[in-house]
Amino acid sequence: MRPLIRLAVSLAVSLPVAGIATVAHAQNATPADRPATTFPYTPGLDVASMDKTADPCVDFYQYACGGWMKNNPVPADQARWSVYSKLTQDNQRYLWGILDGLATKREGRNVAQQKIGDYFGACMDVKAIEQRGAAPLAPYLAQIAAIHTMADLPRVLARLHLDFGDSAFLFGFDANQDFKDSSRVIAFASGGGIGLPDRDSYLKDDPKSAEVRTKYVAHIAQTFVLLGETPEQAGKDAARVMEIETALAKASLSRVDKRDPYKLVHKVDAKGLQALTPGFDWKLYLTAIGEPRLNNFNVTEPQYFKEVSNLVQGDDVAAMQTYLRWQVARNMAPALSANFDQAHFDFFSKTLRGVEQQPPRWKRCVGLVDQQLGEALGQEFVSRAFSPALKAKSLHMTRQVEDAMAKDIDSLDWMSADTKKRAQQKLKAIVNKIGYPDQWRDYSAYVVKPGDFAGNVVRGNQFEVKRQLAKIGKPLDRKEWGMTPPTVNAYFNPQMNDINFPAGVLQPPLFDPKMDDAPNYGNTGGTIGHELTHAFDDEGRQFDANGNLKDWWTKKDAAAFEERAACIVDQYAQYTVVDDIKINSKLTLGEDVADLGGLILGWMAWQTEMASMPQQAAAGLRDGLTPEQRFFVGNAQWACENDRPENLRVKALTDPHSPGRFRVNGLVVNMPEFQKAFMCKAGQPMVAEKRCRVW
Ligand SMILES: [Zn+2]
Repeated sequence: MRPLIRLAVSLAVSLPVAGIATVAHAQNATPADRPATTFPYTPGLDVASMDKTADPCVDFYQYACGGWMKNNPVPADQARWSVYSKLTQDNQRYLWGILDGLATKREGRNVAQQKIGDYFGACMDVKAIEQRGAAPLAPYLAQIAAIHTMADLPRVLARLHLDFGDSAFLFGFDANQDFKDSSRVIAFASGGGIGLPDRDSYLKDDPKSAEVRTKYVAHIAQTFVLLGETPEQAGKDAARVMEIETALAKASLSRVDKRDPYKLVHKVDAKGLQALTPGFDWKLYLTAIGEPRLNNFNVTEPQYFKEVSNLVQGDDVAAMQTYLRWQVARNMAPALSANFDQAHFDFFSKTLRGVEQQPPRWKRCVGLVDQQLGEALGQEFVSRAFSPALKAKSLHMTRQVEDAMAKDIDSLDWMSADTKKRAQQKLKAIVNKIGYPDQWRDYSAYVVKPGDFAGNVVRGNQFEVKRQLAKIGKPLDRKEWGMTPPTVNAYFNPQMNDINFPAGVLQPPLFDPKMDDAPNYGNTGGTIGHELTHAFDDEGRQFDANGNLKDWWTKKDAAAFEERAACIVDQYAQYTVVDDIKINSKLTLGEDVADLGGLILGWMAWQTEMASMPQQAAAGLRDGLTPEQRFFVGNAQWACENDRPENLRVKALTDPHSPGRFRVNGLVVNMPEFQKAFMCKAGQPMVAEKRCRVW
């Protein structure tokens, strides 16, 4: 996955988080803010996005993206702005038109259209949402109030997990492939429990982090006041919540630790699970969640569950109730009236990420439909925006990049024949998923009601949680997708051993069938190579061809890999994210390795394509650029971005991807092909003295 979290999606195993977390309330539409009936076209290589006054050998990112950065400031409703986010917004605007039509036209809709139309209509009905106020919270607050002793906790917690699917309620409980046997789906109990973005948000003692914590506690107190508490009581309760979350944060693994899958494998039976958490009755919990007979679990963070047990055994029922009331209000705030919603936005978007104003209502509602009914919406998107010809072209390029990787593996001087053989087996076993799933998800069990926004959100959570839990003990569905078709992103899943490119990411300017091949191979070819390389990055390489966590490397080859990876860790550790914060290059290692591998593989695939198209190869200058230069500029122009400093601070803690500037400059310095294409001299900033290369 390029801009978002990828391996974490399949390995961090939190409960599916309700899409609601990112929504906020209404903004009046400006006149320009209208649904689109066609896609705006942006060329795959845009000269206007370049800054030709910059020297490509000094700062290639500035040269390729300088114009884009100048012309595309971060919009008021965004934390960052990038080529990917702009295309996401274009897709959303197009989906808005579809949903708007389906929401108003009640006749002639099929079942899927009825669901997405009614969901969108209810989400847009701000008047009805305002009238209900905090009423959707009432049943949950009553259940929490009815916890008389800790013996009541498991039953209530199971209800909250079923209705919100959110691991912030003390812990996560979910289904996932067994690390050691990828063909089996078992129950996973995982960490979570906190409201801030990362455990380090609670642990770092610099002034900025302390300031964020103070404002977080103030926001929690404000929420309790909205729930009817006096300011004095609210202040005390907020402090209690903070104590509990801090204790849970301290017991959590760091994100770097979580990149080591071996640290997440702890198989237990029901007895073992119970032994881990004295005081918390798992039998009650499992019965209440509808899975009473489970006897096979993976506990990702045993230390974390010891802390959960400590909390339960501390027997402070009132504190637990306070904590759960906060989590319910936090989770549901964006589906409630504006007072809750605005307070939620003010902290989680404005304070934390620097966003100036709430996104317009339509955008949040399109996003929610995509999150809760994504494959129903995806059918509408694919039928309009992803032709069979486009699918065939994408598949052709994917196979070329895979052939390039096979050649690349063969040519490695640091890998033995034995490991090469198994690497080739793994490469061959990778499943290519292009555009959209072969079989669309069946949403018939999900009841969507007109005029009931909060109810639709909760029923959507329930549908997803039950769908996940129903996988336990059943044969694995290898055809499932982890992203929806309109998504502008891609991913590799090491346990499925598949690469996934949704229709949304195979659009101009990322993939532009009207363009010459050079920028397309630089951009989308590079993305395909990136995902493929994830199968062989520091984390992915630990899984075999069947997706099992199993070491298939000789000791010597593994050491040679580590040595090459260390070169990348050292290189990226030099780069600054914001102020005095450097890249945590052990966190970004997998993505940095994939970026470089992707560019190399994209280049190799392009060379193959050119060999069969001598006219294009000899085409000469276009826009004043040689084909080789167009390849590199095309590659860089996927990564153009602007970011708010607040958001950069959050990303430095949480994002396994380096900032765009280094996802471009950090690669080209390692590429002799780049040096040649732009005739850079040794010693210039874009020519590394010591080049890194893994794949
Ligand atoms: Zn990635």
